[in-house]
Amino acid sequence: MQDEDYTNLVSRRKDSIFVKIIRREIPANIIFEDDSCFAFHDSCPQAPTHFLVVPKKPIACMLEAEDCDESLIGHLIIVGKKCASEVGLKKGYRMVINEGTDGGQAVLHIHVHVLGGRQMTWPPG
Ligand code: AMP
Repeated sequence: MQDEDYTNLVSRRKDSIFVKIIRREIPANIIFEDDSCFAFHDSCPQAPTHFLVVPKKPIACMLEAEDCDESLIGHLIIVGKKCASEVGLKKGYRMVINEGTDGGQAVLHIHVHVLGGRQMTWPPG
Protein backbone atom coordinates (compact mmCIF):
# COMPACT_ATOMS: atom_id res chain seq x y z
CA MET A 1 0.00 0.00 0.00
CA GLN A 2 1.32 3.44 -0.87
CA ASP A 3 2.33 5.92 1.81
CA GLU A 4 -0.81 8.01 1.92
CA ASP A 5 -3.90 8.20 4.07
CA TYR A 6 -5.45 4.81 3.35
CA THR A 7 -8.95 6.23 3.61
CA ASN A 8 -8.23 7.81 0.18
CA LEU A 9 -7.21 4.44 -1.20
CA VAL A 10 -10.34 2.80 0.18
CA SER A 11 -12.56 5.39 -1.48
CA ARG A 12 -11.15 4.71 -4.97
CA ARG A 13 -10.37 1.02 -4.80
CA LYS A 14 -11.09 -1.41 -7.61
CA ASP A 15 -11.82 -5.13 -7.29
CA SER A 16 -9.07 -6.66 -5.22
CA ILE A 17 -7.06 -9.71 -6.21
CA PHE A 18 -9.10 -11.61 -3.62
CA VAL A 19 -12.35 -10.80 -5.44
CA LYS A 20 -10.77 -12.36 -8.53
CA ILE A 21 -9.92 -15.49 -6.52
CA ILE A 22 -13.47 -15.63 -5.14
CA ARG A 23 -14.83 -15.34 -8.71
CA ARG A 24 -12.40 -18.09 -9.79
CA GLU A 25 -10.82 -15.70 -12.29
CA ILE A 26 -7.37 -16.48 -10.90
CA PRO A 27 -6.31 -19.74 -9.22
CA ALA A 28 -5.66 -20.28 -5.53
CA ASN A 29 -4.81 -23.24 -3.35
CA ILE A 30 -8.14 -23.36 -1.51
CA ILE A 31 -8.45 -25.01 1.90
CA PHE A 32 -12.07 -24.17 2.70
CA GLU A 33 -15.10 -22.40 1.27
CA ASP A 34 -18.58 -21.69 2.57
CA ASP A 35 -21.31 -19.17 1.75
CA SER A 36 -19.50 -16.26 3.35
CA CYS A 37 -15.74 -16.88 3.13
CA PHE A 38 -12.74 -18.59 1.58
CA ALA A 39 -9.51 -19.86 3.09
CA PHE A 40 -6.55 -20.36 0.78
CA HIS A 41 -2.79 -20.65 1.06
CA ASP A 42 -0.81 -17.42 0.81
CA SER A 43 1.18 -17.22 -2.44
CA CYS A 44 4.17 -15.72 -0.60
CA PRO A 45 4.23 -17.63 2.70
CA GLN A 46 5.94 -16.08 5.70
CA ALA A 47 5.94 -19.35 7.67
CA PRO A 48 5.90 -23.06 6.78
CA THR A 49 2.10 -22.80 6.84
CA HIS A 50 0.52 -19.47 5.93
CA PHE A 51 -3.04 -19.15 4.76
CA LEU A 52 -5.63 -16.38 4.53
CA VAL A 53 -9.29 -16.33 5.52
CA VAL A 54 -11.19 -13.87 3.32
CA PRO A 55 -14.86 -12.87 3.37
CA LYS A 56 -16.76 -12.97 0.09
CA LYS A 57 -18.18 -9.59 1.04
CA PRO A 58 -15.57 -7.09 -0.21
CA ILE A 59 -14.95 -5.12 2.98
CA ALA A 60 -11.74 -3.18 2.31
CA CYS A 61 -10.39 -2.98 5.83
CA MET A 62 -11.37 -2.80 9.49
CA LEU A 63 -12.09 0.90 9.05
CA GLU A 64 -14.89 -0.02 6.67
CA ALA A 65 -16.30 -2.86 8.80
CA GLU A 66 -19.68 -2.08 10.39
CA ASP A 67 -21.65 -3.42 13.31
CA CYS A 68 -23.57 -5.66 10.90
CA ASP A 69 -20.24 -7.34 10.00
CA GLU A 70 -19.60 -8.48 13.55
CA SER A 71 -20.66 -12.09 13.06
CA LEU A 72 -18.91 -12.32 9.69
CA ILE A 73 -15.60 -11.14 11.14
CA GLY A 74 -15.99 -13.52 14.07
CA HIS A 75 -16.72 -16.27 11.57
CA LEU A 76 -13.39 -15.62 9.81
CA ILE A 77 -11.57 -16.29 13.07
CA ILE A 78 -13.48 -19.49 13.78
CA VAL A 79 -12.87 -20.70 10.22
CA GLY A 80 -9.18 -19.85 10.69
CA LYS A 81 -9.14 -21.97 13.83
CA LYS A 82 -10.80 -24.94 12.12
CA CYS A 83 -8.50 -24.72 9.09
CA ALA A 84 -5.44 -24.49 11.35
CA SER A 85 -6.48 -27.78 12.90
CA GLU A 86 -7.18 -29.27 9.47
CA VAL A 87 -3.73 -28.38 8.12
CA GLY A 88 -2.07 -29.81 11.23
CA LEU A 89 -0.96 -26.78 13.24
CA LYS A 90 -0.91 -28.76 16.47
CA LYS A 91 1.55 -26.52 18.34
CA GLY A 92 -0.31 -23.26 17.79
CA TYR A 93 -0.31 -20.49 15.26
CA ARG A 94 -0.60 -16.73 14.91
CA MET A 95 -3.64 -14.91 13.53
CA VAL A 96 -3.04 -11.41 12.17
CA ILE A 97 -5.08 -8.66 10.54
CA ASN A 98 -2.92 -5.99 8.93
CA GLU A 99 -4.85 -2.71 8.88
CA GLY A 100 -4.08 0.28 6.71
CA THR A 101 -0.77 1.84 5.83
CA ASP A 102 0.91 1.59 9.22
CA GLY A 103 -0.48 -1.91 9.70
CA GLY A 104 1.23 -3.06 6.49
CA GLN A 105 -1.96 -3.94 4.62
CA ALA A 106 -1.23 -4.56 0.93
CA VAL A 107 -4.56 -5.94 -0.32
CA LEU A 108 -7.63 -3.76 0.26
CA HIS A 109 -9.96 -6.63 1.11
CA ILE A 110 -10.11 -7.56 4.76
CA HIS A 111 -8.41 -10.88 5.56
CA VAL A 112 -7.09 -12.87 8.49
CA HIS A 113 -3.59 -14.33 8.15
CA VAL A 114 -2.97 -17.64 9.89
CA LEU A 115 0.72 -18.49 10.24
CA GLY A 116 2.28 -21.53 11.86
CA GLY A 117 4.82 -24.31 11.66
CA ARG A 118 7.59 -22.33 13.33
CA GLN A 119 8.15 -20.42 16.56
CA MET A 120 6.78 -16.89 16.21
CA THR A 121 8.55 -13.97 17.85
CA TRP A 122 7.27 -10.86 19.59
CA PRO A 123 7.15 -7.97 18.92
CA PRO A 124 6.32 -8.44 15.24
CA GLY A 125 8.21 -6.38 12.67
P1 AMP B 1 -1.67 -7.90 3.61
O1 AMP B 1 -0.28 -7.35 3.51
O2 AMP B 1 -2.12 -8.13 5.02
O3 AMP B 1 -2.64 -7.11 2.79
O4 AMP B 1 -1.58 -9.36 3.01
C1 AMP B 1 -1.85 -9.68 1.67
C2 AMP B 1 -1.39 -11.09 1.48
O5 AMP B 1 -1.96 -11.58 0.28
C3 AMP B 1 0.11 -11.25 1.34
O6 AMP B 1 0.59 -12.13 2.34
C4 AMP B 1 0.28 -11.81 -0.06
O7 AMP B 1 1.35 -12.72 -0.16
C5 AMP B 1 -1.05 -12.46 -0.30
N1 AMP B 1 -1.44 -12.61 -1.70
C6 AMP B 1 -1.43 -11.66 -2.65
N2 AMP B 1 -1.87 -12.16 -3.81
C7 AMP B 1 -2.20 -13.45 -3.56
C8 AMP B 1 -2.71 -14.52 -4.36
N3 AMP B 1 -3.00 -14.34 -5.66
N4 AMP B 1 -2.91 -15.72 -3.79
C9 AMP B 1 -2.63 -15.92 -2.49
N5 AMP B 1 -2.14 -14.95 -1.69
C10 AMP B 1 -1.92 -13.74 -2.21
